[in-house]
Amino acid sequence: MAQATQSAEVDVEIAILGAGFAGLCMGIALQRDGQHDFVILERATEVGGTWRDNHYPGAACDIPSHLYSLSFAPKPDWSRVYPTQPELHAYLRQLAEDHGLRSKIRTGHDLLGADFDDARGIWRLTTSAGVITARKVVSGTGGLSEPKDPELPGLARFAGTTFHSAAWNHGYDLAGQRVAVIGTGASAVQFVPEIAPVVGHLDVYQRTPNWVIERGDRPYGRAAQWMFRHVPGLRAGYRAALYWKHEARVLAFVVHPALMRFPQRAAVRHIEAQVADPALRARVTPDYAFGCKRVLISNDWYPALQRSNVELVTSGIREVTPAGIVDATGKSRPVDCIIFATGFYATKNPIAARIRGVGGLSLAEAWKDGEEAYLGTLVRGFPNFFFIVGPNTGLGHNSMVFMIETQVAYIQRLLALMADADAARLEVRADVQARFNTALQQRLSGSIWATGCKSWYQHDSGKITALWPGFTFEFWRRTRVFDAADYELGS
Ligand code: NAP
Repeated sequence: MAQATQSAEVDVEIAILGAGFAGLCMGIALQRDGQHDFVILERATEVGGTWRDNHYPGAACDIPSHLYSLSFAPKPDWSRVYPTQPELHAYLRQLAEDHGLRSKIRTGHDLLGADFDDARGIWRLTTSAGVITARKVVSGTGGLSEPKDPELPGLARFAGTTFHSAAWNHGYDLAGQRVAVIGTGASAVQFVPEIAPVVGHLDVYQRTPNWVIERGDRPYGRAAQWMFRHVPGLRAGYRAALYWKHEARVLAFVVHPALMRFPQRAAVRHIEAQVADPALRARVTPDYAFGCKRVLISNDWYPALQRSNVELVTSGIREVTPAGIVDATGKSRPVDCIIFATGFYATKNPIAARIRGVGGLSLAEAWKDGEEAYLGTLVRGFPNFFFIVGPNTGLGHNSMVFMIETQVAYIQRLLALMADADAARLEVRADVQARFNTALQQRLSGSIWATGCKSWYQHDSGKITALWPGFTFEFWRRTRVFDAADYELGS
C-alpha cells in the first residue's frame, strides 16, 4: 500500500479510535502494510478495551482462549479453556508491546466529537486532550463499551453505594454488606457466585431468566502447554477444531432454529440437576426459545441462587428508596450497595451522537430507526470512516476476534483500493448499503433471535442490529471478494 504523502495537511493519515482488540489489530495491520502515519486514540490510561474495563470478580470469556485470540499472535500457554479477564488483559498489553504500538497510542484521549469537513475531505476529532485531524478514521470502540445504568424511580435518592459491573468498585468492601444485584445476564452469572460467599446478604433482581448451560472449563496443564508450543500443527489444529465446532452452531441459530430444541433440553436438564425446588425451577426457566437471548454458561449460577444468604427476586422493582429497594409487590429490602449488571448501550451508543458526517448529520440521526452499515464497516454519508465491530457483526455462536480480524483485512483492502485509484475519499454506494441491509434483515427475520424475546441484539424498533446472520466464513468471503463498483471513490 502506498505510504501517505499528504500528511502535511493533517495531523495523521489515519486515526484509530480505541485500543482494544480491534484498535490494536488495526494498528498492527497498518504497520505491516508500511503505513506508519497513524495514531490510536484511547480514552483510558491503558490498552485492553472491554478486557481492561470488565474487571469484576470472576470476569472471563465464554469463547475458548485458543480461539479468542488473534491468529497471528498465538499464545500456547493459555492457562485454561476459558480465558480470565486478567489473562486477556495481559495478552492485549503484551500485544501492544510486541508490535511496538505504544508510541502510537495516545491515552487519555476521549472522543468528544468527530466532524467531517466536506470541503477539505478530512475528519476533525475533538478529544478531551485536544483536536486531531485525520484523513481517515477507523473506529474500534467496541459494541459493548458504554455501560447502561437502569432507570429506576428513586435511584438518585439512594443513600448507599452503587456501581456498574463494567466499572467495578474494588475499593468498596462487600464483606458482610447487604447487596442488591440488578440484572442476570452474562456479567451477573459470573460475579454473583464470586461475591455471594463474601457479602452478608444478596438480593438478585431478575427481570427475565436466561438459558444457562454447563461450562466445560478446565486448566491446561504444563504438558498440554508444552505440546501446544512444540508439537507442529497441534495448536493450529486445535484452534481450527474449536472454530468449526462453534461455527456449526449457526445451523441452529439461523438455518434451522427448530434444532435449538436439543440444546434447550440440555439446559432444562442443567436446571433439573442443579435446582431441587420446583418453584425456583419455574422462576429460572425462560419462556422463550433457547438462543433467542444470549445463552449463558455457568456451573455455579444456580447453586449461588440457592445459598441461604441469597434471594432471587423476580417480582420487579417498584422504586429505590434511600435505604433499599421496593419490589413490585411492595416488599421493601434494605441494602447498602446496589450493583448494576444491566448491560451496555449495544444500540443507541452515545458515541453515535458525537460523530457527524456529510452535512453535519450525526450517526445517531442516521441510525434513528436502527443501526445499519455495509458489511458492518461502512456507513453512507460518513466518508473515510471505517467501523470495526459495527452494526450486524456481533455473534451468538463464535469468536468476535475472528470478525475483528476479518474486518481489519477488509479495511486494509479498502485502503488499498483508495491508494491504487489515488482516491482521497471512499464511500459505499447508497443503493448497495440499502440492498445489503434489506437482505440481511430478511435473513434475520427467520432466525432464532426473531422468535419473540426482547434482547440487546435489537434496536427499540425491534430490528436486529447487533448480529451477523450466518456463518462467519461467509462474512470473511464477502469482505474478501468484493466489487470495486460498490464504492464511490473521489479525489
Ligand atoms: P446483559 O446481558 O444485557 O444483561 C443485562 C441484565 O440486566 C439483563 O438480565 C436485563 O434484563 C437486566 N436489566 C437491564 N435493565 C434493567 C432494569 N431497568 N431493571 C431490571 N433489570 C434490568 O448485560 P451483561 O450481562 O453485562 O452482558 C452483556 C453482553 O456482554 C453479553 O451478552 C456478552 O455478549 C458480553 N459479556 C460476555 C461475557 C462472557 O464472555 N462471559 C461476560 C459478560 C458480558 P432483561 O433480560 O429483562 O433485559
